[in-house]
Order: sequence, then structure tokens, then C-alpha cells
Amino acid sequence: MRVLGDGANLLVADEGIDGLVVSLERLEPESAEVEHGDGSVTLVRGAGLSLPRLVTDTVREGLAGLEGLAGVPASLGGAVMMNAGGAFGQIGDAVAFVRALRATGEPVSLARGEIEFGYRRSGLAGLIVTSVGLRLRRVAEGERAALRERLKEVMASKKASQPMGADSAGCFFKNPTIDGSRVSAGMLIDRAGCKGMRVGGAEVSAVHANFIVTHADCTATDILMLAERVRERVRTAHGVSLENEVVVWRRGP
Ligand SMILES: Cc1cc2nc3c(=O)[nH]c(=O)nc-3n(C[C@H](O)[C@H](O)[C@H](O)COP(=O)(O)OP(=O)(O)OC[C@H]3O[C@@H](n4cnc5c(N)ncnc54)[C@H](O)[C@@H]3O)c2cc1C
Repeated sequence: MRVLGDGANLLVADEGIDGLVVSLERLEPESAEVEHGDGSVTLVRGAGLSLPRLVTDTVREGLAGLEGLAGVPASLGGAVMMNAGGAFGQIGDAVAFVRALRATGEPVSLARGEIEFGYRRSGLAGLIVTSVGLRLRRVAEGERAALRERLKEVMASKKASQPMGADSAGCFFKNPTIDGSRVSAGMLIDRAGCKGMRVGGAEVSAVHANFIVTHADCTATDILMLAERVRERVRTAHGVSLENEVVVWRRGP
């Protein structure tokens, strides 16, 4: 059984997959809000909810904490699963708790401290995230314009640095750790001379080298072959083995 969020970080092999795929898009959204005395608010939202919608809604309501995730296409559950984020913060920082189901159907509730958020990981593999509690900060009336401005800045920065108009699954590779520091995979790919490389309908973006963008008739095989060529070039040029950030679904276990 596999769980489908918004599919924004997913590549499905051309031969398809076997087994059950569960989508939470139509799950009756759980919705609750708890105000705390210190000016913070806990929002509880269903995992199938659109993250971009949640980001704009919370900013409009004067709630800070998710504005750094502007421009990240995702369902709330998928974003938590992948600990989506980047230079402007990651969703794990706002998560208060997660409600989920085990594969056996048994419900489980995990507090923030029990979740092992890391770089593009949550440690929640094997669970179906059904709802999420987010701890956000209510900003004063006079600060709301600045919060809206921040959202616009994050969006503008993404539009300037990523091929937002093209079809892709976001960054294909994780940023590797070299000598204890995270290094931009995009920079390594660019320096290895991969921008513009193509296989069939798949191309290494000229805007951001860690994005594989697709053209008409592109197949998953084109993308996977191109990714292997990029990995090989980066290994030869820098001695670094890039790991997929994109989740690939194939037949079999
Ligand atoms: C243009 C573009 C820009 C992007 N920018 C960023 C960025 O800045 N930062 C970033 O981190 N990512 C980015 N991404 C990647 C993507 O937005 C994130 O990885 C996002 O978290 C994927 O969420 P999703 O709901 O689409 O998950 P999916 O792609 O549907 O699934 C991803 C994984 O999560 C699992 N999953 C999904 N929902 C659940 C659930 N409810 N319970 C359990 N497992 C679940 C799936 O089984 C799968 O393993 C970008 C993608 C694109 C296309």
C-alpha cells in the first residue's frame, strides 16, 4: 500500500505499479484551532489539505510560521512526511503533533518530540499521516503587512531561482553532506556541466540544475536515465554520490 499526496515529489515508473494507492485528498478534513495564552495558536488540519492554500490562508489570518513554505506544492501530509522546506525554513519547525494510522489500521498520535525531523525526512515512513497539529504565532495587527510582504519575498525568490512554470518534481537530488556541511546539489551539477543535458523529453533545467524538467512525450524512463547520467558526471567531477530526493515508485516491493 502506498500513500499519494499531491504527487509533487513523486516519479512513477512507466510500467506503473502494483498494489493499493491511497489518496487522502477527499478525506473529510479534520479542523480545529486552540488559542494559547502566549499568543500562539495550534491549528489542526487534515493531511490531504493543499499546503499552498494553508500557507496563504494562515498568512491572511495573521498567523506566522508557514510563510517560508510559499511556493512548495504539496499536501499537508506529504509536506510533513518529506519535512518540506528550504532556505526559508522547514515544516517540521511548526509541527506540534501528527495523527496517523499504522498499516494495520491502528491509530497513533505522535508529539513533536517523538518525530525525528531531519533534512527532507521525518522518520514517519510506514505510517499514513491523517492530520497534523501546527503551532503558529498570531502576529499583532500592525505586523500583518510585514508578514504578507515576507510571503511575497519568498515567492519572488523561488520564481527567480527555480523553473516554476515547467513540469518537474522539484529538486531531483538531496543536497549532499561534504566535510560536515550541506552542499548545494544544484551547484555541483552545474559545475559538472550538466545544465541543458537531455534524454528524450527530459532536460536538466537551465534555471536550476537540480531540477529535471519535462517536455512533450517525456517518459519516466527518460527522467531516470538522465538522472543516472547526471549522477555519474557528478561522481566523476566531484567524487560525490548524489542521493534521490524524488521518491520513485516502481513495481514490486
Ligand atoms: C516546482 C516544485 C518546487 C518544489 N520546491 C520544494 C521546496 O522548496 N522544498 C521541498 O522540500 N520540496 C519541494 N518540492 C517537492 C515537493 O513539493 C515536496 O517534497 C512535498 O513535500 C511533496 O508533497 P506531496 O503531498 O506532493 O507528496 P507526494 O509527492 O505525493 O509523496 C511524497 C512521499 O510522501 C508520502 N506521503 C504523501 N502523503 C502522505 C501521507 N498523508 N501519509 C504518509 N505518507 C505520505 C508518499 O507516499 C511519498 O513517499 C517541490 C516540487 C516542485 C514540483
